[in-house]
Amino acid sequence: MKFDILTLLPDFFVSALEYGVIGRAITAGKLSVSTHDIREYTTDRHRTVDDAPYGGGPGMVMKPDPIARAIKAVKGDGVGGTGGVDGADADIVPTVILVTPQGTPLTQQIAQELAKKQHLLILCGRYEGVDERARSEVDLELSIGDYVITGGEPAALVIVDAVGRLVPGVLGSADSPESDSYSDGLLEGPQYTRPEMFEGVKVPDVLLSGDHKRIGRWRRKESLRRTLERRPELLETAPLSDDDREIIKELKQEELKQGEQDD
Ligand code: SAM
Repeated sequence: MKFDILTLLPDFFVSALEYGVIGRAITAGKLSVSTHDIREYTTDRHRTVDDAPYGGGPGMVMKPDPIARAIKAVKGDGVGGTGGVDGADADIVPTVILVTPQGTPLTQQIAQELAKKQHLLILCGRYEGVDERARSEVDLELSIGDYVITGGEPAALVIVDAVGRLVPGVLGSADSPESDSYSDGLLEGPQYTRPEMFEGVKVPDVLLSGDHKRIGRWRRKESLRRTLERRPELLETAPLSDDDREIIKELKQEELKQGEQDD
């Protein structure tokens, strides 16, 4: 899977992409991440990438023309040769993503869909954002949450990480993403490791039992409990079995009893 990132701050990504699962996947050639400085696609002496907003108002807006040229160059659409910069394969048309707080909120489901693609091109905004006309080059607008950060670079990193780890072969078999929160529509349940006793709290006996059937059922119940407690709305759309619905009933009864005892 190839990621191309258009940014005004290419150095921002250097050390962030050296570490952990993503860093190792890049070294192993399972992922490729290239950054492109949008300033390289300006044509004036001052390499201008932003200008004051028409109509007045605070801040600066990123100009559309360097962005359009940068996208075309990376796609290999005429600017910068036939194969695209860095030898991007012209046959694989990248999905162009603009990161913006106005975009569709990124979810695990969207990350799973994007992980099936071969080439993503991520455009990072800065200042007050990008000129509206640059959006004509964009296939998808993604937000990392309902808040505003100063630039798109951290958002691009979030996408590279969330999508990159789902690309087959990136996570080792021991780190399967299937049990992760949101993968099956639920939150993952609590996890424990050594020591068996910590500050007077013991690891649940079932996890020490070696009975994998019981452990599996306990994990499912705790995953449902956590989802019910923290994100009950997820249960409305999560694919649930009859067994799950029974467990949810049990959990609600337990909650009711607990409430009565507390009163
Ligand atoms: N004026 C813009 C608005 O209100 O929509 C916000 C601009 S923000 C200061 C600068 C850039 O940071 C944006 O163009 C975008 O690329 C990025 N950004 C900020 N918040 C983001 C979020 N929640 N998700 C994704 N990107 C974000």
